[in-house]
This record gives sequence, structure tokens and C-alpha cells, in this order.
Amino acid sequence: MTVNSLLSDASLRLEKALHHVNISEDASERLKYPKMSLSVSIPVRLDDGSLKIFRGYRVRYDDTRGPGKGGVRYHPNVSLDEVQSLAFWMTFKCALLDLPFGGAKGGITVDAKSLSKAELERLSRGYIEAIADAIGPDTDILAPDAYTNAMVMGWMMDHYSIIQRKILPGVVTGKPLGMGGSQGRNTATASGAFDVIKTICKKLEYVPEKTTVAVQGFGNAGAELAQQLACAGYRVVAVSDSRGGIYAEQGLDIPSIRQYKSESRNMAAVYCEKSVCNIVEHQTITNEQLLTLDVDILIPAALENQITADNAHQVQAQLIFEVANGPISSAADVILEEKGIMVVPDILTNAGGVTVSYFEWVQNRSGFYWPATDIRDQLKTRMVTATNQVWHIAQTRQISMRTAAYVQALMRLGEALDAKGTRTYFSGSSA
Ligand code: NAD
Repeated sequence: MTVNSLLSDASLRLEKALHHVNISEDASERLKYPKMSLSVSIPVRLDDGSLKIFRGYRVRYDDTRGPGKGGVRYHPNVSLDEVQSLAFWMTFKCALLDLPFGGAKGGITVDAKSLSKAELERLSRGYIEAIADAIGPDTDILAPDAYTNAMVMGWMMDHYSIIQRKILPGVVTGKPLGMGGSQGRNTATASGAFDVIKTICKKLEYVPEKTTVAVQGFGNAGAELAQQLACAGYRVVAVSDSRGGIYAEQGLDIPSIRQYKSESRNMAAVYCEKSVCNIVEHQTITNEQLLTLDVDILIPAALENQITADNAHQVQAQLIFEVANGPISSAADVILEEKGIMVVPDILTNAGGVTVSYFEWVQNRSGFYWPATDIRDQLKTRMVTATNQVWHIAQTRQISMRTAAYVQALMRLGEALDAKGTRTYFSGSSA
């Protein structure tokens, strides 16, 4: 699927949800278009003295409920269409979690790994230079996404503060702790997903010890979530990264895999090189095999479009929790629904990251910093509340969890958009 069709694919979910919610025509029409799409060129002096121009983007999809909020992605595939679709998802995610934010996203078309550290810093500062007029703590707030991290966020916040001649930590979240970052931000997405999974499993009466789990993607989100699930007693039987995966019917020792992967950068080798294979029988599998394993729970936590019309028929899991953004195409959605597989959507499952970003923004603006336990408690409360709301809508209206999540978000967005007046109001035909 091309990135162009990513936005149309995302919009199909909106169309479906609009059938189940009573919002004005004005509001639904407004939500079909991004509010602002900025395309910039960023000149960067490379270490060898040459000048290279990079393409960058910032999209504010909607800001009716508050300033735009969304990450910045560095990747060779970044395009305006991709950034628009990611900003669209952020709009609905923030509304679903009832955060006082709209949705935004940014990106630079670059292979970050090909740049030196100094070049990367100049590129990050150049990006802020180019989009400074469109962002700010009350306008549009940045955060990390693929191939950007806390240090990049620190450079961005620093550069914005230099331009504005005052320290403005609230313009960026996901910063290093020493620059106004929040406790718990690193593990927020996994912790939030854990809360969603636990809440749904309790409703479905799944016992952790008898529940098997496969996780695709062993990065920030996937590896931490696999570990939290394993610690809570779930049997994590398969994990994978871009090079492939491993499977053990009796369950994997996730902390060891994490430790050895960070040392060897190779997951398949973990068990044998470190002699754990004497204790745990395991087999290597491909990413395609992982997606079709006979497990209770499947967690795609890597990339977009992993389950499509091509492989959806082979999926055997009963429950899928989307930790990655957009891992299931809309065509696959239909097939999974026909098979009776419940999909808990990305805008709910992975919303822990933006929720703790919200806490970071609040802390920056109040100048009062919360301990890690308070962050974790507040995160859990919000994730469990949102999960219960989506569950209730899905059950009472007999619709999928995905459509229910969009319905909940649309009700909030519709209320905000309609508060500015509707056709009925202005035509004078209502009280
Ligand atoms: P990451 O870069 O830390 O990890 C990604 C992992 O996926 C890596 O282990 C990588 O090897 C693996 N991978 C790459 N290609 C793969 C393939 N073809 N098959 C299997 N694995 C593959 O990224 P992350 O921060 O963990 O994010 C993962 C997903 O979660 C992304 O879709 C991201 O947008 C989404 N997400 C992350 C956060 C967050 O806070 N980290 C928040 C919201 C959504």
C-alpha cells in the first residue's frame, strides 16, 4: 500500500464511525481535511563541507480541542501524505483519551543512520528554524516518533527557546529528564497498552497463566510490553524484530532476551549463544509466521500494514491489540471481523505515550514535577476509563472496538466543533 492510500485508508474508519454518531454535517466535513500542512526545505551543512537540502513537514490536522500534539519522524519514506495520516490518527487518539489537544505530526525525509551526530543535531535545529512560526506550547507540541529520541527532543526544545528568547519546555515532550522530561515517559506506551490488555482480558475472563501472547516488534514499545505481560504471568511464546523471531511453547524469558539483544543486537542467537537453550526449547520463526501463530493474543508493535487482505485469513489469534500505528489495513479489518477476531485499535492501545506526554506538558507549565508513582497511577486511571468507555459503546451498539473508539472520539470532536455554531444555529432554525 502506498503512503498516499494510508490517509484514505485511515479516513475509511472515520466514514464507518460517522454512521453511528450524531454529529453535524459541518463537523464531519471539517474532519475530512487537515487544518494546516506545512512543507519546508532544511539546508544542512554536512561534515565534509557540502550543503544538503532535506524535506520536512508539519501537519496540524485539527486543533479545536486544544493545541496540536504529535511526534516527529525521521525516515526515508516520510512524505506529506504519511504525515497527514499520522496527524489524523493523533486527532482521534487525543480526543479518545479526553486530552485537551488536537492532532498533529511532523517528519523529515532522511535516513537518520547515515548522518553523523553533529549533522543530526544541525538537521534537528534546522527543522525547528523552518517550522518555528507554526509550533509552540499553546499552538502545536512536538514529541519523539520513529528514529527520534529524547536527545533530539532536547535539541528541538533548546532551539525553539533560543528563537523565542525564553525557556519554553512545553513546546516539546519526550525530553530528557534533566531538561524537563517526565518520569515514566519511556515506558508509557507499553504501560498504557498493558492496562488496556489487562482490562479487556478481565472482561473476557482470560486467566494470564493460561493466555498465550505473540509480540511482533521488539523495540521501545514491544519489548517493554512483552516484559510487563510476562511479569504479570502471561505466557509470551513468540517475539520478533526486523531480522525474524523466536518461539517457545512454554513461554520465553523476556528479560534475558532484552538484555542479550541489547548486547548482541541479535534475538535469534540469544538462547543458544548464552546457553539458555539448554533450559528452554525454542525455534526460530519468520515475522510472517509470527502473525499467524495459534495464540490467544497477537500484538503487532512494529510497523504499518502488517496484516492485510493477503494474510488476514491465516490469523489464528482471538484478540489483537494494535500497539503499532495502523498495522491492520481496512480490508483486513473486514476479514478479521468475519472470523470473529476482536481488534483493539491503535488509537486506544498505544495512547499511553501521548497521555504521559500530556502529563509532561502539564508539569512543564506548572513547574511542579510529579513522582513516577503518581504518573503511573494517573496513566492507569485514564487508560482503564477509556477502555471501559469504548467497550461499553461496542457492546451496546454491537459494533467493533475500532468503530466504537472512533465513535467516542467523534462525539468529543463533534461537541467541540459544533460549539462554534452549526448550520442549524446560523440559519436561525433552532432555539
Ligand atoms: P522502535 O523503533 O523502538 O522498535 C520497532 C521494532 O520493530 C524494532 O524491534 C524493529 O526491529 C522491529 N521491526 C522493524 N521492522 C519489522 C518487521 N518487518 N517485522 C517485525 N519487526 C520489525 O519503535 P517503537 O517506539 O517501539 O514503535 C513501534 C510502533 O509503535 C510504531 O508503529 C510506533 O508508531 C508505535 N508507537 C510507539 C510509541 C512509543 O512511545 N514508542 C507510541 C505510540 C505508537
